Amino acid sequence: MKAVSVKDSGVGIEISERAIPTLKQGEALVKMEYCGVCHTDLHVANGDFGKVPGRILGHEGIGIVTEVANDVTSLKVGDRVSIAWFFKGCGYCEYCTTGRETLCRNVQNAGYSVDGGMSEYAVVVADYAVKVPEGLDPAQASSVTCAGVTTYKALKEADAAPGKWIAIYGAGGLGNLAVQYAKKVFNAKVVAVDINDDKLALAKVSGADIVINAKDTPNSAEKIQELTGGCHGAVVTAVSKVAFNQAVESLRAGGTVVAVGLPSEYMELSIVKTVLDGIKVVGSLVGTRKDLAEAFDFAAQGSVVPVVQKRPIEDAPEIFAEMEAGKINGRMVLDFTK
Ligand SMILES: [Zn+2]
Ligand SMILES: [Zn+2]
Repeated sequence: MKAVSVKDSGVGIEISERAIPTLKQGEALVKMEYCGVCHTDLHVANGDFGKVPGRILGHEGIGIVTEVANDVTSLKVGDRVSIAWFFKGCGYCEYCTTGRETLCRNVQNAGYSVDGGMSEYAVVVADYAVKVPEGLDPAQASSVTCAGVTTYKALKEADAAPGKWIAIYGAGGLGNLAVQYAKKVFNAKVVAVDINDDKLALAKVSGADIVINAKDTPNSAEKIQELTGGCHGAVVTAVSKVAFNQAVESLRAGGTVVAVGLPSEYMELSIVKTVLDGIKVVGSLVGTRKDLAEAFDFAAQGSVVPVVQKRPIEDAPEIFAEMEAGKINGRMVLDFTK
C-alpha cells in the first residue's frame, strides 16, 4: 500500500510503499477514504516535536472498517470511522477517568507517536475510533476530526451560549469553523477578528455578526468593547501573541479567553485586570471522543460545513511545500478513493 511518511532522516516527507498492517487484539483495519493535511503534520514532518523517521503521517483520517480483531465488539466491518490526533489514552489515569482524556500523560497520537491515516490502509484501536454518522460527507468529516472538534471544544471551554458574545481571533481554517459552530450550534453572537480581508469576508458569509480587521483598526479591543459591551468569551486560533493580548482586552468581566493557536511566545496578562475582572485563561487541545462524536453530529445535520479540496496522494509533497510557504487556502484532503 502507498503511504505518506516521514523520510528516514527524520525531516521531510515521501510517498513510500508499505505492507498492509496486521491486527493485534482490540484493533480494526480501516480502508482509508480521505485524510486531511494539517499544520501539525508539517511540524511532525519537520521534526519539531522530535524526529520520527518512517512514521506514517495523518490525524484527519476517515475510512471504512474492513476487518476487526476477534475480541472487538465496538466496531464492525462496514463502519465508517475517524483517525484523530487523540488516538488512544491509557484508560485509567486521573485524566482518562474524569472526562479529560486528551490530557492523558501516556496518550498516543496518530501520525506522530503511532502511524496515522495518510495511507491506503490504517489501524485503529476499536474502542477509541469515533464513528462517522450517516449523512456526513467523508471528505468534510476529515476536517471535523481535527479543526472541527478543536473549535467545538474550545467554544465549550469559552462557555459559548445563546446570546453571548464570542470573539474568534484568527478567521482561517480553524477560525472559520469556530465561527460556524459558535453561530449555528451555540447560537452565540460572533465577532471575527483577522488581518486578512478575504478571511473576514468568508467569516461574514459563515455568520459572523461583526468582523474586524485588526490591522486597520488601531484599538480593535476597544472597538469590540464599544460594540458588544465586552465579549463573554474569546477563542484564539491565530498564531500570534498580539491576538492573545487583544483577546484578553476584548473580554467583559467574568470572561474567558481560550488558547488554541500555538505561537512559541508568551502572552501578556494584566494581573490587575485578571483579578478585578475575574478573567479566566484556558488552554484547549483537540477534544475527547465524546466531543468528536458531537462535532460530527452537528456537521451531519448540516449546521457546519467544512470547506475542503480533494487532492491525489501523489500531490502530498507539493501540498506540504505549499503549506510550508503559507500558500494554502482552505483544507487540502488526500483522496484515497481512486
Ligand atoms: Zn490537524
Ligand atoms: Zn490516561
